[in-house]
Amino acid sequence: MANNTVSGRSKICSFCGQPIEGRFAIRGINAFICETCLEKGAELVRQHKRQRLRGKLELKTPREIKEYLDQYVVGQERAKKTLAVAVYNHYKRVIRALEGGSDGSSLEKANILMVGPTGVGKTLLARTIARLLDVPFCIVDATTFTEAGYVGEDVESILTRLLQSANYDVEWAEVGIVYIDEIDKIARKQGENPSITRDVSGEGVQQALLKLLEGSDVLVPPQGGRKHPEQPMIKVNTQHILFFGGGAFDGLEKIVERRLKSSAVGFKTGDVSEIEETNLLQYVTPMDLRRYGFIPELIGRFPVITALDPLDKEMMKAILTQPKNAIIKQYKELFALDGIELVFTDDAIEEIVKWAIKLNLGARGLKSIVETILLDYMYELPGSGVDFLKITGDLVRKKVSERFGSLKKVA
Ligand code: ADP
Repeated sequence: MANNTVSGRSKICSFCGQPIEGRFAIRGINAFICETCLEKGAELVRQHKRQRLRGKLELKTPREIKEYLDQYVVGQERAKKTLAVAVYNHYKRVIRALEGGSDGSSLEKANILMVGPTGVGKTLLARTIARLLDVPFCIVDATTFTEAGYVGEDVESILTRLLQSANYDVEWAEVGIVYIDEIDKIARKQGENPSITRDVSGEGVQQALLKLLEGSDVLVPPQGGRKHPEQPMIKVNTQHILFFGGGAFDGLEKIVERRLKSSAVGFKTGDVSEIEETNLLQYVTPMDLRRYGFIPELIGRFPVITALDPLDKEMMKAILTQPKNAIIKQYKELFALDGIELVFTDDAIEEIVKWAIKLNLGARGLKSIVETILLDYMYELPGSGVDFLKITGDLVRKKVSERFGSLKKVA
C-alpha cells in the first residue's frame, strides 16, 4: 500500500486537478486520485447500483395489484386488499430509499402474516404478487429450520434460496419476497403450562428468524444447508426484503373465540351467536398470537395480519374453471396439444368439487382429483386417434372411488 499512496507536496490529483498535499491519494500507473475524488467515485457507484435496481422495480398501485390477483386467485377479497396495500407501501418505501430520499428506516417495514386453512391460496397470493412485480421470490418451509446446533437447516439458508432466485445478484435479492410456509409450526407448543410443554427448538427458531425479519446484515451460506467455517459467506441486507408468513394455525380460532366470547367486543349487538357464523380468524390480534406460542418480538415484525377464508363450493367451482391458469383450462390445453378436445360436463364439475371438499385439502384436492380422473387418458389417448374426451359425473364417481376407495374413510 505504501507506494500506492502519496503525501506528495507538488503532486496534483489527475481527476480534479487539486494539489494532493497532506491528503490521502492512490497512485495509478501514471496518475493520482485524491480522497475527495475517491469518495465521489464511491458515491457514484452506489448511485449507479441504486439506479439499476430502481430501473428494475416497477411500482404498482394497490388497485393494479388487486386486479392482477383477481385474475389468478378466487375470492379472498379481504386478504387481497390488505396485501395490495401492504405490498404497495413496502415498495414505495424501497423505491424512495433507492432514489436517495431516505434509507427507508423512518417507515416501518410491513411483513405480512397470513392465517387460514391449507390450500386456500396463501402461497398462491404471495407467488402471484412476486410474479407481477417480477422480483426474486422463494418459498421456504419453517419446519425445516432449527436453531444453531440442532439437526436441520440454519434460518440463514432462507436467504440462500432468495439469492438463487436472483441468480446471486445480491442487490436484486435484497428487494425480493420470501414466503415462509408453515410458520405456525414454530410456535411454542400450546398448553396452559409452558414450562412443561415448552418446545425449545420452536422458540429458538423464532429468535433466529427475528434477526432476518428485523432488517440487518446477514451472512448467508451461498450453497445453503448448515454454515461451516470454511465456506465463504455472502452478506445480504434484509431491510428491504418483504417476508410473508403463512400457516393454518390450528387452534388459533379457539383462542380468538374464547377472547371474543369473554368480551363480546367487536360485535355491535354483543350477540355471541354471530360469532359462530363468521371466520373468526379475521379478528385475530397480536395477543392471540402470543397465546398461540409466538414471542412478542416476532409478532411485532408482522404488523400486517390477514385471514384467509375456507373455500366453499362455489369458490371451488370457480377455481376449477375461472382463473387464467385454472386447472381445467390447463388440462384442456395439454390435451389440445395432442389434438384432443377435452370437455367436462357441469355434473362432472359438481362431482369433482364434492369429492374435493371431502378430501379437506382445500383447492389442492381439486388438482389431485382431476389428475386421478385424467391419468389413464393421458396415458392412452396420445397417438390413439381419439380426438374427443367427455368427462361426466358418473365417470368422476367411478374414477374417484377407484382411487380413494370410499371417501367416507378420508372425510
Ligand atoms: P396454501 O393456502 O396452503 O398456501 P396454495 O396457495 O398453495 O395453498 O394453494 C394450493 C393450490 O390450490 C394452488 O396452487 C392453486 O392452484 C389452488 N388454489 C388455492 N386457493 C386458490 C384460490 N383462492 N384461487 C385460485 N386457486 C387456488
